[in-house]
Amino acid sequence: MSETEHDIALEDTDRIQGRAALVNNVKASIALAGAVRSTLGPRGLDKMLVEDDGSVLVTNDGVTVLETAKVDHPTARLLISASSLQDRSARDGTTTTILLTSELLQNSLELVRMGIHPSVILNGYNIALEESLKELKRISKKSNSSEMELAIVSTSLAGKIEKGTSEILTSCALEAAELLANEEGGDDLERLRIKRLQIDNGKMKDSRLVHGLVLAKTRLDKSTPSFSKDGKIVIIDGELENKKIGLEASIEISDIGILEGFHDRDAKKIQQIVNHFSSLGVNMLIVRDGVTDAAITPLKNAGIITYRRMERDDMELLSKITGSIPIRNPLNIGKEHIGKYTNHSEKLIAGVKYTSIEGKNKGGMTFIINGTTPEVRSEVRRAFDDALGVAHRLKRDAFTLPGGGASHIHLARHLRMFATSQSGREQLAIEAYAAALEIIPRVLAENSGLDPIDTILSLSAAQNNDLENGSWIGLDARTGQNISMEVAGILDPLFVAKHALSGATEAAISVLRIDDVLWAKQDAQTPDWQNEIEED
Ligand code: ADP
Ligand code: MG
Repeated sequence: MSETEHDIALEDTDRIQGRAALVNNVKASIALAGAVRSTLGPRGLDKMLVEDDGSVLVTNDGVTVLETAKVDHPTARLLISASSLQDRSARDGTTTTILLTSELLQNSLELVRMGIHPSVILNGYNIALEESLKELKRISKKSNSSEMELAIVSTSLAGKIEKGTSEILTSCALEAAELLANEEGGDDLERLRIKRLQIDNGKMKDSRLVHGLVLAKTRLDKSTPSFSKDGKIVIIDGELENKKIGLEASIEISDIGILEGFHDRDAKKIQQIVNHFSSLGVNMLIVRDGVTDAAITPLKNAGIITYRRMERDDMELLSKITGSIPIRNPLNIGKEHIGKYTNHSEKLIAGVKYTSIEGKNKGGMTFIINGTTPEVRSEVRRAFDDALGVAHRLKRDAFTLPGGGASHIHLARHLRMFATSQSGREQLAIEAYAAALEIIPRVLAENSGLDPIDTILSLSAAQNNDLENGSWIGLDARTGQNISMEVAGILDPLFVAKHALSGATEAAISVLRIDDVLWAKQDAQTPDWQNEIEED
């Protein structure tokens, strides 16, 4: 591009460079953190989000607030994606990630103002991160009892949902995670193997885990049984219809005999398929697509209970549960494709028929979410997703840390000492990193109506005075006391804390690297909260 072409290309953009770019980006991050700050911890407040169409969502979940907000500022979007990544990979710690990022950025701005170059700051932050991860691992404990697991999962739900429901979600999540523990697959196993089914009925507290597939569907022919036990099941990944015949029949047919000929052939083919199923001893047939009416009677006569039009996810889950292997062509089904179900039943709930099918493999389940409004059900669903996400990952990485700001206070104290081992200017960045970590206990105190400064000072002193178990002393936000988080049962998983720290550090560093922002003029918008922030 020539000079003039370059100038023309820039005509439609505003340009912010150097320190002004950093100031602007830090402001956006402060605004963002301000939007979720009051939701942190067990005493966090709810946010009411109003969509363009007037629909309302009430939530206490940081990442939901951010993902729903309409934000155009590029830095703000970068931070939101850090928080979403935290949500996907660790399922928890999203608000923490945003608060840490914003604090790291604010502190780095102070350093830049003192004349420290951003590259020194990002070096220092990286050193601090590495040291923090080591130290977190060192003070963590292996969760080796069901009480500890229970405490970890219920801490992740603190403040998200009322106590009675939280207890149910916690025990369902742990039960499901236990059943998945021996199954093969990655982190998304919890999503694939546990169907979430919302039922417009009952109370939140009636939500429960069913060991099998439950779906809002009834059998094809009502004269076949609505209950059955221990049967053979086949799944057709396609249809039981003869489309070809349908097509040919639409050709003008002058002689009525020709049409009957087609019907005969259709019926014969269906009978042949049903005979094949009978010879294999099949009791239940699942067809992903349609089933022709011509098949209803032959299937009934053969005593085969049939369900048609299945969602692919349901079909795959059923295949896992029963061991039946889906196959396209029904005539190709052999012994090796047949699965077994243990229980099958239908039930009418609030005017809708639900079918439940269970099998020998317990690694496939349905979580039934009760509640009479969609808002209530989606809040339960989000809370269950969090609880299950944490419980499932805990089975693979069982280490735990103290919650209630304890690990952050400990790290801050540790890093301040560690910083003195560095001879360069990085020392200042490590101290800034240490100070940034204190945002977590500070906001936990703030949200509980306690004085944040007093809380940090008293926590640091309490940790310092207990040489053996000091690092596990944190704030119980319910009572306002500084006590052992193990005793109080306020426990965070190590993997959540590690992810939050790495995610926040990476996000802050990527913002620090930006020293030139080009705004396309039509898009130049900062978050709505921007107005609340004082001008620099
Ligand atoms: P995040 O989105 O970061 O997970 P949460 O609103 O879930 O935010 O708050 C998590 C923080 O709340 C963790 O630091 C956890 O240790 C803390 N926490 C949970 N329960 C308590 C409690 N009873 N007292 C103090 N802190 C708590
Ligand atoms: Mg949480």
